[in-house]
Amino acid sequence: MRAESKFLQLMGRIQDGYRMTQEECAYLLSFDERSLEAAITRGVADAMSREKFGNKGLVFGQIGVEVAPCAGRCRFCSFSEEFTTFTAHSLTDEELMAKADNFCSTGELYALALMVLHDTSFDRTLSVISRVRERIPSTTQIMINMGDFTYSQAEELRAAGANGSYHVWRLGEGTDTIFTKEERFATIENIKKAGLDLYYCCEPIGPEHTPEQMAEQIIKGVDYECFQHGAMRRVLVPHSSLAYLGQISELRLAQITGVVTLLALHSPQITSVGVHEPNKLGITSGANAIYAETGSNPRDTEQETTGSHGLTIEDCKRMYAECGFEI
Ligand code: SF4
Repeated sequence: MRAESKFLQLMGRIQDGYRMTQEECAYLLSFDERSLEAAITRGVADAMSREKFGNKGLVFGQIGVEVAPCAGRCRFCSFSEEFTTFTAHSLTDEELMAKADNFCSTGELYALALMVLHDTSFDRTLSVISRVRERIPSTTQIMINMGDFTYSQAEELRAAGANGSYHVWRLGEGTDTIFTKEERFATIENIKKAGLDLYYCCEPIGPEHTPEQMAEQIIKGVDYECFQHGAMRRVLVPHSSLAYLGQISELRLAQITGVVTLLALHSPQITSVGVHEPNKLGITSGANAIYAETGSNPRDTEQETTGSHGLTIEDCKRMYAECGFEI
């Protein structure tokens, strides 16, 4: 069995520093995840990533601050008011501080993500950021994961203590969500203009997404000079309106993570590549960023994700250790 010569030539050029085009990205994604080409993609991405990032794995934490039936109605999200089984619940200040302490007291966390809902009030969002900022070590970055916002709101987020924001033009935007790509891009541009770090990702990947769709979405993140790129599969939420489509395998997710890594390594602005949810195939295919999670989680049907989908910091460290990383 031999890999395609066109493929091997492209891999050689990437190893020499070449940034692939969108078409070449789609080409790499077009191979079956069980193919020799996919295995080589993952292996090269792993070796190059370990070299660039010094074989260091980063642990991030995410606190889901709120849960409620969400008017955003994204067809893959367990909070969508169309099919959610959740009732509204917000962490109290005491609960929020306890979760922040639990994640940050050892100082090991690179960054703490705070996730609120699409319709969480902006004042509540600012209050969550500023309270957590006062509480956690100044060396721990804060990243906010929220709905779309204006430039002046981006500046307020930064003034409250946020260092970055997770925002993505998602696969299926406008068809699986009620949001337009123009709204998503406007927020991404506000993040960049306000000097916040842009956390981006190829998500939520389902079996129906083509290599071309993924390549276009991945390249956008690189072109926007994101701070963190990554790959996330759509987790099958049993009662969601996209459940019938199923989900991709961890092996396919790892292959996509490898392709994202091979692009990210040639972008000076990208400092890490995430894989969501954390798994060993992903972190041995180029990813060097995984998230521990607590509170609500749009990929989970439990109100408290720790012990369900969410890993603890110790779980993440153990996963890295098993895969030969320093943390
Ligand atoms: S992804 Fe965000 S906007 Fe969409 S339903 Fe879930 S919480 Fe709401």
